[in-house]
Amino acid sequence: MTGPRPRTHLDNVALYKGGDAPKKAAGHKLSSNENPLGCSPAARAALEETLGRLEVYPDGNATALREAIASVYGLDMARIFVGAGSDEVFQLLGQAFLSPGDEVVQSATGFLVYRLIAQQAGASVIYAEEAAYTAQVDAILNAVTERTRIVFLANPNNPTGTYLPHDEIMRLYAGLREDILLVLDGAYSEYVQKNDYSGGFELAGSAPNVLATRTFSKIHGLAALRVGWAYGPQSVIDALNKVRGPFNVGGPSQAAARAAILDRSFVDLSSAHNAEEMSRLVLALSGLGYAPVASAANFILLPLDGETEVATLDAFLRDRDIVVRKLEDYGLPHCLRLSIGTTEANSALIEAIAAFKGVR
Ligand code: PMP
Repeated sequence: MTGPRPRTHLDNVALYKGGDAPKKAAGHKLSSNENPLGCSPAARAALEETLGRLEVYPDGNATALREAIASVYGLDMARIFVGAGSDEVFQLLGQAFLSPGDEVVQSATGFLVYRLIAQQAGASVIYAEEAAYTAQVDAILNAVTERTRIVFLANPNNPTGTYLPHDEIMRLYAGLREDILLVLDGAYSEYVQKNDYSGGFELAGSAPNVLATRTFSKIHGLAALRVGWAYGPQSVIDALNKVRGPFNVGGPSQAAARAAILDRSFVDLSSAHNAEEMSRLVLALSGLGYAPVASAANFILLPLDGETEVATLDAFLRDRDIVVRKLEDYGLPHCLRLSIGTTEANSALIEAIAAFKGVR
């Protein structure tokens, strides 16, 4: 008996592996770029308030949440799409826009979920070379062929933390055909403190082929609830609505996300904590002789001597129940990615790396 045969291109799907967790509650999880401060107290209260109504279906259109997002960013709510994490938004883009034989372009170390959704749809991924761990607009444009349907760009990128300034995004947009969807994934946008950066809403609001995505999993600290969203051309939003499930985002998730996005003081607090701790970690790592890659996000890419040092440092940290991320899946076997944690976790990390280096 062979049983039912899934679509043949699913044979090629490489499953996504998330960050590992520490063994004990006192350990430090620095492997998934989560918010070390938790979430907004208002978001938690809003979630708790829904617990008495779990038998009720959610609003399938996420109306109150889309209204809140629109009010915070000054967007047209009709052009906002809400998904179960931005991962679901990408997946639905794959369903709506990709067919077997199509191509997706992303930069060499672009986020792995783009590859996953391309493979799920039977499309191929074309990787554009990077320089200094940074996406290169010309390389992306050169990778485009007549089969290209989507260009994915995480800005800032995970796992490198590097970003492209507004001018470069405009150059990328200007170089793409109008029938190619440019997805600007701003999962870490709220952390960026650079004058030449733009989150992409203006372009997504005016161009016929640009979609900007955001998540509640990072700065809003709601990764467990799976909420992400997208803003872009009405035709793209309409297509996403056609392929989604009728109730794709749970009611408690919608309620918490709404309260989270309205709580600007928690966002500011999280971003200030990140900036302060990022400087402290970069300074300490540089002092220990490392060359961390400058990051605009909430994690640091740390190039090491090679795979042996990666394996030994990773094991050394795990012995102390500090879990970071190895990056062989991203083609970066000589690097570790360190998420910015609580002040306590970052101090423990610095101390452990100093001990690894034999420095006291
Ligand atoms: N985009 C990037 C660049 C990410 O790093 C992540 C999370 N690791 C996501 C999107 C997905 O986030 P979520 O599905 O939780 O919204």
